[in-house]
Amino acid sequence: AAEASPKPGLLGRILGRGEAKTVVRRALDDEMLEQLEELLITADMGVDTALRVTANMAEGRMGKRLSTQEIKGLMASEVAAIMEPVAKPMPLYPKKPQVVLVVGVNGSGKTTTIGKLASQFRAAGKSVVIAAGDTFRAAAVEQLQVWGDRAGVPVLTAPEGSDPASLAFDAMSKAEADGADLLMIDTAGRLQNRADLMEELAKIVRVIRKKDPSAPHNTLLVLDATTGQNAISQVETFQKLADVSGLVMTKLDGTARGGVLVALADKFGLPIHAIGVGEQIDDLQAFDPEDFARALTG
Ligand code: GDP
Repeated sequence: AAEASPKPGLLGRILGRGEAKTVVRRALDDEMLEQLEELLITADMGVDTALRVTANMAEGRMGKRLSTQEIKGLMASEVAAIMEPVAKPMPLYPKKPQVVLVVGVNGSGKTTTIGKLASQFRAAGKSVVIAAGDTFRAAAVEQLQVWGDRAGVPVLTAPEGSDPASLAFDAMSKAEADGADLLMIDTAGRLQNRADLMEELAKIVRVIRKKDPSAPHNTLLVLDATTGQNAISQVETFQKLADVSGLVMTKLDGTARGGVLVALADKFGLPIHAIGVGEQIDDLQAFDPEDFARALTG
């Protein structure tokens, strides 16, 4: 069992840990498909996507005797096929500053992700400015400053309760004056009052566009993988509030429920730019569909 993973993934749980030498061959029948479906639903893949994955697995294979490894391999390749089209790093543009608006509910990992991204861009030789646009949460602003220090990136702040759009405007001016490559703007994530939040985000966008009609160039939605199917409704909500261009999925280190990524890819087709795999500055990775599919089905 040299290849047995310490954490069995989905299939590992019903089919055993996949010791290749003692594989049990089972016929792929309706009962088996139903078990697989249930498993995928348990992992937050959602009913529609789970059905699609198992239907694809079954195609031309009903009644065939398959080993555990073969079933895992099939499932992994079906999952990877859904994920491949969405695995795209955040596009970079020559425009200076490239404006990256970061949205998401509080606690999803916006601040942390901005810090990690800033650090990656710095390492790639880009100059970055951060704007602490959640002016209503003093703690969020402080936390962003901590991350800015870690990444070696200036963080623009405004007094508590002040207008985030005016901070965004000042940040545009500063980023332009500094010749910064990227400006990342944090935003509030209070969903309790959607109308206010919508107006706040719209105003930020209006103000940014006064400076650069092509901005914001990216609108990243940060989602917490541990919220499972909730992530679906968050995408729907934020698509109404802002022109979401890509996703970052955080906390994939702490969950066996990453299946929601497959549902998201299947349903929305939004690019997944990066995944968060821990709380440290280097814990942000490019999304790799095959690694992900193997870890999920393992
Ligand atoms: P915000 O309210 O959206 O700005 O969220 P924060 O960036 O403050 O993150 C909320 C919590 O999630 C903090 O405790 C972070 O350390 C934690 N966090 C963020 N990203 C990750 C991740 O990828 N993995 C883990 N394990 N924790 C994360």
